[in-house]
Amino acid sequence: MALSGIQIYKLLPQTNCKECGFPTCLAFAMKLAAKQVELSACPYVSEGSKTQLAESSAPPIRLISVKAGGLEVKAGNETVMFRHEKTFFNRPGLFVRVKSSLGVEAIKDLVTKADAYKVNYVGMDLVVDGFAVEADEEATFTEAIKAVRSATKRPLILIGNEFAIKSGLDNLSGENPLVYAANEANWEAMADIAKKYSTSLVVAGESLDDLAGLTEKLKVKGCEDLVLDLGLGHLGNRLAKSTQIRRLAIKKNFRTLGFPSITFANGHDGQDAIEAAQAIGKYSGFIVLDRFAPDLFYPLLVLRQNIYTDPQKPIQVQPGIYEINSPKADSPVLVTTNFSITYFSVANEVEGSGLPVWLLVTDAEGMSVLTAWAAGKFDSERIAKSVKEFGISDKVTKKQLVLPGHVAVLSGEVEEELPGWEIRVGPREAVDIPSFLKHAL
Ligand code: SF4
Repeated sequence: MALSGIQIYKLLPQTNCKECGFPTCLAFAMKLAAKQVELSACPYVSEGSKTQLAESSAPPIRLISVKAGGLEVKAGNETVMFRHEKTFFNRPGLFVRVKSSLGVEAIKDLVTKADAYKVNYVGMDLVVDGFAVEADEEATFTEAIKAVRSATKRPLILIGNEFAIKSGLDNLSGENPLVYAANEANWEAMADIAKKYSTSLVVAGESLDDLAGLTEKLKVKGCEDLVLDLGLGHLGNRLAKSTQIRRLAIKKNFRTLGFPSITFANGHDGQDAIEAAQAIGKYSGFIVLDRFAPDLFYPLLVLRQNIYTDPQKPIQVQPGIYEINSPKADSPVLVTTNFSITYFSVANEVEGSGLPVWLLVTDAEGMSVLTAWAAGKFDSERIAKSVKEFGISDKVTKKQLVLPGHVAVLSGEVEEELPGWEIRVGPREAVDIPSFLKHAL
């Protein structure tokens, strides 16, 4: 039973010491009741109170970890329905399904390609998280697992009946793959396997009632690390089920369904991309795709990255001077902010132009040009401060500074702040930078 904010407050030290980052213990208690902070943020909770608060402080959706070697895919631990309420924490793992009937050589080929695939997005490498090995041909399952393991170190999901799963796990010592799946017919055997090998277990049922019944039985058996398979069906059904489960877990604290879910995106003619995209937004922890193709994974990896970025902490690059295309003393200096998407948009266009440029990245607290300007984080003072702090004057003789077109209004003030510099106004959009560099400077 979840405790209210007042009940939690009574269990806190009530000294208002502020070390948790909140002005009072009551404010902290309210946040804890809303699952928006961790109990560990208060260092002074007594052991007795900790026990009583364990239920309230436990995340409404259990954290599940699938590991292999040093690599890990984590799902769960989410606390909100919508990203803008706080943030989503654990990005859903994207897995490629590999059927054992495919044959050893074809499996190695597929897994090698998918394993090596990498998208560099605003300075981050985005990759496929793992592989779901399916015993569609039981006799070849062990060989299939060995073939997959010879081509990747990434975490695995094992799909098959209890006999296949057991033989597969015997070949994966020291790993914690996710096992698929316990259902009404085999749950006891699967529970025994999950406990023996310390793996997480997927629970499959037609309805939410079926799932709830199974998770209760598995918990009694000692299996706590569970993942819910919401089943196939059209997009509307999938969305309704995943939203109901999330709402029950987060809003009603219904622990019976407080687990991350798994989605199989296996539609044809591009439908798999739509199913996976929906699952990224709402609310899968593991997503299994039936095929690997760069044009399928690229948008999914980028979408996932955008949704699972903390909206209050924009992705930033380090402020400073970036040299693009080997600039010389007479090359122009372009100014931009340290919001990573802004930086990479500008840097990519300059790089593509082949023209040498000094790119001066100003600390605007990770905001884009217009947002930072509107918030007072990108003004003439900050730009002038960057020019002085990073010593760009020592590197150039021409002293030509190009402002983003969106802040043309700042040019007069920057001129006053930086005597001796010629202030130019560049284009509003990054895409127009190459033409500006060629024809306007
Ligand atoms: Fe209260 Fe603990 Fe926060 Fe201090 S750290 S204000 S004792 S909740």
